[in-house]
Amino acid sequence: MKAVVAHGAGDLRVEDVERPEVAAGRVLVGIVYGGVCGSDLHYARDGRNGAYEIREPLVLGHEVVGTVDSVGAGVVGVEPGAPVAIHPAIPTPRAGDRSGVGLNLAPGGSYLGSASTHPHTQGGFAELLEVTPEQLRPLPAGLPLRRAVLAEPLAVALHGVARLGSRIEGARVLVSGAGPIGCLTVAAARAAGAASVTAADLQAAPLEVARRIGAHAVIRLGVDPEPDAGSFDVVIEAAGVPASLVAALDRVRPGGTVLQLGMLPAGPLPIPLAGLVAKEITLLGSQRFDVELDDAIAMLAAQPGLEVVISHEFAIADAVEAFACAADSSSSSKVVLRIRGDEVSR
Ligand SMILES: [Zn+2]
Repeated sequence: MKAVVAHGAGDLRVEDVERPEVAAGRVLVGIVYGGVCGSDLHYARDGRNGAYEIREPLVLGHEVVGTVDSVGAGVVGVEPGAPVAIHPAIPTPRAGDRSGVGLNLAPGGSYLGSASTHPHTQGGFAELLEVTPEQLRPLPAGLPLRRAVLAEPLAVALHGVARLGSRIEGARVLVSGAGPIGCLTVAAARAAGAASVTAADLQAAPLEVARRIGAHAVIRLGVDPEPDAGSFDVVIEAAGVPASLVAALDRVRPGGTVLQLGMLPAGPLPIPLAGLVAKEITLLGSQRFDVELDDAIAMLAAQPGLEVVISHEFAIADAVEAFACAADSSSSSKVVLRIRGDEVSR
């Protein structure tokens, strides 16, 4: 079967890998769509993602949806053909069960398409992926697979907004960085009751996506006037750029909250923090998600307009081109790979 494999820095290949056999207690999913994520781009370009370095060929991809292909012995209640999203984390919270909150912080866990474990956890940009039944998330009727592929990045956005708790209600929110995560965060902040949501980015095209997904205002950094210092109750840094965190600490009001949602570079960073003290700013971090994947699926079913985040679709054979497209944030938002052509029509 075909798979998208990173062999090291600048060495991404679409190649034939061995077709998995379904083991007892496991499920094989035929992957139909996969979303290309920033971490996939890092592995492909740099051979590493933050602290995690590729030491053996790694099938990329953790934003994947498809249909159940076959079911291993002992698995009950899973029907071949059923459309599913896949929770990329192990340990995996049970679908619909909120008592397991916090599993995203469990030490020693693994994540699809990640070099954080040895051997690496192979990912889902492949025609077939073996998962545990707990990882399956059945899709509701009326939610097409192409839209459902946004469930993982939307869950990241929902988890970040959930970290804000009641601070989001009635807040003037700035989302800094209008890539796919930033745009989905605009939608998540609105859904959680923000009074206004402004998106900021250096590029025009991402801001157009932010506007279409529901931003009340957009600011093109370096072109439009800078927002006044202290003019937002909540600033969400969704770019993973240290300078953007510096600006966030300036733009948030005294007593306000900054949420660091973007992945910052490892190592020491020159961030002036005096304002954190003087303005009594609350600074929050956010790591992936746990139970929010279920909320993301429900929200995607209810809001077809979220699909505006998908800007490009490529066949798996053209994955190298797809990654180049996704790396150019001036012209792309979420790029998806079409991995198999047998999507059930729903
Ligand atoms: Zn992702």
